[in-house]
Amino acid sequence: MKSTFRTVIEPFIIKTVEPIKMTTVDDRVNILKEAHYNLFKVKAQDVLIDLLTDSGTGAMSSNQWSAMFRGDESYAGSQSFQRFEAVVKNIFGFKHIIPTHQGRAAERILFSVICKPTSVILNNSHFDTTRANVEFQGAKAIDLVIDEGLNPQKIHPFKGNMDVEKLKKAILHYGAENIPICMLTITNNTGGGQPVSMQNVREVKQILNQYDIPLYFDAARFAENAFFIKEREQGYDEKSIKEIVQEMMTYGDGCTMSAKKDGMANIGGFLCTNDDALAQMEKELLILTEGFPTYGGLAGRDLEAIAVGLEEVLDESYLQYRIAETRYLGEHLSAIGFPIIQPPGGHAVYIDAKTLLKHIPPLQFPGQSLSVEMYRAGGIRTVEIGSVGFGKVDQNTGADLPSEMELVRLAIPRRTHTQSHIDYVVEVMKEIYEIKNELSGYKIVKQPKYLRHFTAEFIPL
Ligand SMILES: *Cc1c(COP(=O)(O)O)cnc(C)c1O
Repeated sequence: MKSTFRTVIEPFIIKTVEPIKMTTVDDRVNILKEAHYNLFKVKAQDVLIDLLTDSGTGAMSSNQWSAMFRGDESYAGSQSFQRFEAVVKNIFGFKHIIPTHQGRAAERILFSVICKPTSVILNNSHFDTTRANVEFQGAKAIDLVIDEGLNPQKIHPFKGNMDVEKLKKAILHYGAENIPICMLTITNNTGGGQPVSMQNVREVKQILNQYDIPLYFDAARFAENAFFIKEREQGYDEKSIKEIVQEMMTYGDGCTMSAKKDGMANIGGFLCTNDDALAQMEKELLILTEGFPTYGGLAGRDLEAIAVGLEEVLDESYLQYRIAETRYLGEHLSAIGFPIIQPPGGHAVYIDAKTLLKHIPPLQFPGQSLSVEMYRAGGIRTVEIGSVGFGKVDQNTGADLPSEMELVRLAIPRRTHTQSHIDYVVEVMKEIYEIKNELSGYKIVKQPKYLRHFTAEFIPL
């Protein structure tokens, strides 16, 4: 099945198209002014290449659209739920499958049921909504990724791995009785979409077994993770992606899932567990805020799209193309001279704007500066992951504190862009690299109390 040619082609043809409205630099200078230099305020039709997120932004297949037409919208016991449940059970192997409207709803229900204010949740790295849902219960969210995962330039095949020594210490420090579950995020989104190895999962599970702590997966990019295992871990190159996923899930006691990622759907998620008593409580909460357990806040047609998407994401030629696209962008940016998180992960390339724009201090937001310039120069929308989004305020002095890193994330929607789109991004970035020392910092002139990156207003300095 594997092609002997070096060019990895898109393993699909295009059946429906959505036109892009072309804009000029002059148009975009005005659009930026009107948006107060906040890319979240730019209208989607004014973006040429939208790399803001890979969440729910992918293209669905003709099979998914056909399945949607067959959506059974019965309130209880719909056929769409039965098909969805059968697919999830087959791939993930858990006993109870609870649909939710997206990943964070699964998280909220899970942590409401298992957390007390004294609880501690361990993870390789908590995704931001996961951390927020843990902390909302008054509990602690602790990250235990290996040191290599915190070093952007360091090359390691499984930078998402949990540090097992840190894990042992954390269990002794917090006490097993305070740790309702330990999680592994596959791939590790916060760390740059970096994979976790099967061996690491086995080691983590072995330690958790000694203390009777269940292991849960935050499975948003489970298929991309499995592809990296097939590519990089000894003993897996002959296994199918599905076999790899199935093996990994046997080490788990449950999972949360955002179907907006490797579910290949525009909306949806689910929560799985093998624990009967827990499932009962989770379903009661589900009815309270999401809906009846056979739809959980989704339309029957959404369940159909996810059921088909979960099978399609296991296709190796799809994953090969997916990872090649991200790698291609990462390697080209790196060749131009951009410092990026190495090696490129599954779903996104992250540029280290602090290293790139040394003349802009962190509190003048180098990541914001680069992402605004990418939009101005080429109509490319990305997201700043740095002091705008994650900066803190000193409790005593009220002064702004910078974030640890100043990154710009180029997330790649699934099956959405062609090679020439990516080549265009590379060409724009080449031009930006030449003038990088002329870019200015930004100042926030208006901001809300929480989550300022969505609505803050800026002026260039
Ligand atoms: C997106 C994501 C979530 C949250 O899912 P939503 O569907 O956006 O609510 C949780 N964990 C990880 C790793 C994610 O990437």
